[in-house]
Amino acid sequence: MTTPLLKVEKLRKAFGSQEVLRGIDMQVDRGEVTCIVGPSGSGKSTLLRCLNYLEKPTGGAIFLLGDPVGLRWRGNRLYEMSFNELALQRQRMGMVFQGFHLFPHKTALENVIEAPIIVKGLPREQAVDEAMALLDKVGMRERAHYYPAQLSGGQQQRTAIARSLAMKPDLMLFDEPTSALDPELVGEVLATMRQLAADGMTMVVVTHEMSFARDVADHLIFMDDGEIVEQGKPADVLSRPEHERTRAFLSRVLVEG
Ligand code: ADP
Ligand code: MG
Repeated sequence: MTTPLLKVEKLRKAFGSQEVLRGIDMQVDRGEVTCIVGPSGSGKSTLLRCLNYLEKPTGGAIFLLGDPVGLRWRGNRLYEMSFNELALQRQRMGMVFQGFHLFPHKTALENVIEAPIIVKGLPREQAVDEAMALLDKVGMRERAHYYPAQLSGGQQQRTAIARSLAMKPDLMLFDEPTSALDPELVGEVLATMRQLAADGMTMVVVTHEMSFARDVADHLIFMDDGEIVEQGKPADVLSRPEHERTRAFLSRVLVEG
């Protein structure tokens, strides 16, 4: 039996008295694409943020290749990781957000080489070589020397994906990566993500793009009100949902979308 890349057990998160995640169990194997769908406010972003400890869970546990996320064993007790230990662990999980969060005063290339040089101590020349290969992969080689303000939203998001990949993560987390884009730019970002999936990258993707979920995901999770209501093969969940809440959500998004 191999250790799953990511394992989530009875994960809970409350903000004050509001329980936003109410016992999430999920598992992601290496090379798998998991899509998470569900209504606004159901806890999807909070779940992703808990996965890399941007939010501290109030219950349950997360394991990355068997290592507890945010915590570390000392003897037989678990302790909170130090800031540096946490930073090191976070490098194993790339995160791409709805907004692109590029450094505005740096070119696409400078954005991509920043962390490998500063955080990993890569020689600049090697960082540039690797970054150019990644920019090529996301179709941005020609615009490597442009600043974010000179790039379309789709180009900025593809640069943000290259920037995450530059740290060679085990896992990529995407939180509605196409939601802030003009409709005509959605396709190019989804195409980049499809390519990543085809290359074997393990991905957890929160999305409203049902056709992407259907075609690319190995596993589809439907969340509502802080819980996983239903999960399984995308074709099954989308065509034969077992739960009324899933059916209601799908009929809404399929009509709107
Ligand atoms: P989704 O991404 O599915 O739209 P979120 O995870 O963003 O849902 O939010 C789930 C719930 O948690 C919402 O009710 C939201 O208002 C609440 N929430 C999210 N972040 C915070 C926070 N930092 N403080 C308080 N409440 C929050
Ligand atoms: Mg969200």
